[in-house]
Amino acid sequence: MTEPGGGARDPLVVRRIDYLGPMAAAGSWRPPAELPEVAFSGRSNVGKSSLINRLVRRKSLARVSNTPGRTREIHFFRVNDDFVLVDLPGYGYARISKERQAAWLPLIEGYLRTSGELRGIVQLLDVRHPPTDDDFRMLDFLGEIGAPTIVAATKIDKLPRAQLEERVQKLAEEAGLDPEQVIPFSAVTGEGRDELAAAIMSVTQLDSWREDATLRLETADPSSSATPDDDAGAP
Ligand code: GDP
Repeated sequence: MTEPGGGARDPLVVRRIDYLGPMAAAGSWRPPAELPEVAFSGRSNVGKSSLINRLVRRKSLARVSNTPGRTREIHFFRVNDDFVLVDLPGYGYARISKERQAAWLPLIEGYLRTSGELRGIVQLLDVRHPPTDDDFRMLDFLGEIGAPTIVAATKIDKLPRAQLEERVQKLAEEAGLDPEQVIPFSAVTGEGRDELAAAIMSVTQLDSWREDATLRLETADPSSSATPDDDAGAP
């Protein structure tokens, strides 16, 4: 039996959560890379703050990311000693000029390309609408870097129940995903919370999908039987 309040089967029991700080520009400050990182991405208003708050069972954790002047930054939160939750800036807000909208790209892409601890991305899509051009851009980018991607279809409580399954199938099709990759989610009812938490915990257990380790071994002495722990700095 599952308990709605978070019983023994809760895949993510948050005992402690700490705000680590913001990254304001590509290449600027970021917290030490000590834990697996999971990034949350979506257009503004898709329900990202609500989903994060529901996920970690806090009322206003993601508020810092939504305060004026801070919405263009990446915010880092350590969850227990399990992983670092990375709240990426919401992109593509219609009321912001095209020029300012484009500012999200270097920061988000810079982080996603260079973070060695990144294990996966939770990409949010509003269940009621087809993905926007910006969503496609992000999905293409995630495909290009090969990042493990979990898609959360948000605000499912806004759809009539009878339409939900069909709409999730359609969304998966529109986004070029397997329906299995899509987790229907509601921040209002909490539906999908445990499934999302379980998916996140499993990506945090993965080794990095990146080629970096291979690259490092290739540039190190190929005759040595280097292990991932080798600190092969100098040639
Ligand atoms: P963000 O800009 O992506 O962080 O989006 P927010 O979490 O601030 O949500 C944007 C709006 O959508 C707010 O008015 C929320 O109350 C609403 N919202 C977010 N998630 C849900 C949901 O699951 N169901 C419903 N009905 N509304 C939601």
